[in-house]
Amino acid sequence: HSLPQDPILENTRRQVSGACYSLATPKRTAKPELIHSSEEMASELGISDEELKSTSFLEIFTGNKIGENSRPYAMCYGGHQFGNWAGQLGDGRAINLGEKVYNDKRWTLQLKGAGETPYSRTADGLAVLRSSVREYLCSEAMYHLGIPTTRALSIAFTGDQVLRDVLYNGNPDYEKGAVVSRVAPSFLRFGSYEIFSSRQDYKTLTTLVDYTIAQFFPEIKDSSKEGYIQLFKTVAERTLEMIIHWQRVGFVHGVMNTDNMSILGLTIDYGPYGWLEGYDEGWTPNTTDRQHKRYRYGNQPNIGLWNLYQLANALYPLVEDAEPFEDVLEAYKNDYAVKYVAMMKDKIGLSSTDDGDADLLSALETTLQIIETDMTLFFRNLSLVTKNDTVDSVLAKIEISFYTLEELKDDALEKWKIWFDLYIKRLQKETTADEARALKMNATNPKYVLRNYMAQLAIDKADEKDYSLVEELYTLLKHPYDEQPEFEKWFAKRPEWARNKVGCSM
Ligand code: AMP
Ligand code: MG
Ligand code: MG
Repeated sequence: HSLPQDPILENTRRQVSGACYSLATPKRTAKPELIHSSEEMASELGISDEELKSTSFLEIFTGNKIGENSRPYAMCYGGHQFGNWAGQLGDGRAINLGEKVYNDKRWTLQLKGAGETPYSRTADGLAVLRSSVREYLCSEAMYHLGIPTTRALSIAFTGDQVLRDVLYNGNPDYEKGAVVSRVAPSFLRFGSYEIFSSRQDYKTLTTLVDYTIAQFFPEIKDSSKEGYIQLFKTVAERTLEMIIHWQRVGFVHGVMNTDNMSILGLTIDYGPYGWLEGYDEGWTPNTTDRQHKRYRYGNQPNIGLWNLYQLANALYPLVEDAEPFEDVLEAYKNDYAVKYVAMMKDKIGLSSTDDGDADLLSALETTLQIIETDMTLFFRNLSLVTKNDTVDSVLAKIEISFYTLEELKDDALEKWKIWFDLYIKRLQKETTADEARALKMNATNPKYVLRNYMAQLAIDKADEKDYSLVEELYTLLKHPYDEQPEFEKWFAKRPEWARNKVGCSM
């Protein structure tokens, strides 16, 4: 390979065949300005606080300067979008700078929003402040929640204007451009494998699968049918584990297309994601999916399975035996049922086993959806319940989580009282003391999550070059399970003005 010679030709949009990636040169930016950087992520990469604040860091992590030994590239992948095969997608607005090994860990560094690549199709390869703040804050928040995710290292303004909308009067509506630097062991997706299978390019597929095993799953034997099945089984397990975490904290990804499913089981591509406020299995933050609600909260586990079917189809030609794939997919269903119940029992603080537990949990899910009940507040406050409580004293501890108390009457009130009564009786069968149970519950039920309106407030301020709220939320979300009295104001229901406001992915 020669070094990039002609950025224009190199970045030209095209169908790429027989290659897993294409060299691509980041776009130079007008006037980069750092908004925030993650000291936690930097220390994992061996980047000092001083370097993090340097001009050279800013230049490299906005694409203005190419580091030594770096040969930036964009990856080729395809994907199933909303259930349909979409052909070649690829890194349309992401450019990988290369890898860094530190403390025996290998990381890929990537810029998101650094300009067009061969995979940009009809779009501009750029990102705006909104989507960048949302990705930056949420990926770090997920990490601190203990959920497998890609990470973020920095967010910066580019100084360029990006066109996202044309107003009704025909005037262009420009927004400030931004770049997030993202970090992960790998950004490979299900779609990275699907693309070669769909083109019947089994040679490149085999190369990529063997590379994946050798690099990221060293415990698996590569270049063998058993190895390929073992890889699929591991990916299925990791995917399931990730989705159970999402269900636990009320995270809704919003675009679980197969190009947004990491082969490492990491939460990836923070677009129109959202967090449940009112507990609602039917909720999706994605306004383009409001009709079919394919990616709604309650459907995420099924979609994980559907996506794994697509990956199985992609890998099948390397194995030519469907049965072992079917066994893995069957196991996903059974494991899901078991792990989901275990996770929900953790959320309500049950350590022992009782015949009525499944019923108690399904009654809770139904009851939570009668009137709008804030998921985060509800589960967090549930740890305040003691074995000596009465139905009325439980109600007093929980009622803060109902969006309007006026609705808590008749059927709703009756159903909640029935459930609280069952719950107190069930707690009395537990051998753990109230305090110990509360501690465990609080390590499962976060006190603080990145509600949409919180991200929006931080975006609005950052747009005015005031980064204090980005910093505050970043700091808050480093310790999502801890009591943080100085931040108590964020332990609150979504304010009324923020109802029906949704996030945006662009
Ligand atoms: P997403 O739904 O955000 O995961 O994106 C789906 C595909 O569209 C991926 O191939 C992205 O790289 C590409 N894409 C999204 N936004 C842009 C953009 N602004 N410019 C170029 N490609 C984009
Ligand atoms: Mg994507
Ligand atoms: Mg995206």
